[in-house]
Amino acid sequence: MPEALHISGLVKRYPTGVEALKGVSLDIPQGEFFGLLGPNGAGKSTLIHCTTGLASPTSGQIEIFGHNAVNHYGEARALVGLAPQEPNLDHFLTLEETLDFHGGYFGMPKKDRRERSKELLDAFSLTDKRQERTRTLSGGMKRRLILARALMHRPELLILDEPTAGVDVELRLELWQYVKRINEEGTTILLTTHYLEEAEQLCGRMAFINGGEIVAEGTGPALAKQFGVSSLEDAYLELVGRKELSRAKIDEAIA
Ligand code: ADP
Ligand code: MG
Repeated sequence: MPEALHISGLVKRYPTGVEALKGVSLDIPQGEFFGLLGPNGAGKSTLIHCTTGLASPTSGQIEIFGHNAVNHYGEARALVGLAPQEPNLDHFLTLEETLDFHGGYFGMPKKDRRERSKELLDAFSLTDKRQERTRTLSGGMKRRLILARALMHRPELLILDEPTAGVDVELRLELWQYVKRINEEGTTILLTTHYLEEAEQLCGRMAFINGGEIVAEGTGPALAKQFGVSSLEDAYLELVGRKELSRAKIDEAIA
């Protein structure tokens, strides 16, 4: 059985000269809920953009369920649902049109599109708004629609790029519930975040990325052990070179 996502030796150099990925290798088996953690500018979105055809890799291999993401883009991309970091809805489309056009792009027949969009609008509590233009939605509703759109063509691999950045507590918890369920139903998930709590709640395995390189990989406890500390947060602080911020150390100093 091929991996949901197989990346080896991925390098991305932007025309500006920035080397955002410096030879990244990563394997995500089918069914996993995988977290990619790292500070701003680490290369998380670049990795996702290379995987989904929004950026072209400088070198290296990317395969999605065994399909080469560059040479067999169509087959590979059809298996992926992407909720991008920057909301990119068309403001002049209604919610229904947003989902319908997306399904059309992926070749879904009309009847299936109608049923699937109805089901998703309902699941994300957006049915009342279905004929409104997306520009009228609140930030939280936009996030939900973006997730519904990502799921429209029933992808096997769902990629969430910082889905809860700037989102209020209720919506964050609601989104966690949805994606947990989707994972339990069999969809493989790649989540990027810099919220450690989010990663701990959702992800089985995770990788730390910093400066375009993956520096550690494993479950939360395994990562902590690798850095010789007792929590994921402390491991992360080691990663970004800020261990003086460790809450355990601060508590010790106060005591
Ligand atoms: P993250 O998602 O982890 O915050 P990014 O992948 O967005 O990181 O960025 C990684 C690095 O690549 C940063 O130094 C960023 O400034 C740079 N970068 C990202 N996109 C572009 C681009 N389109 N052109 C040039 N540099 C970019
Ligand atoms: Mg990003």
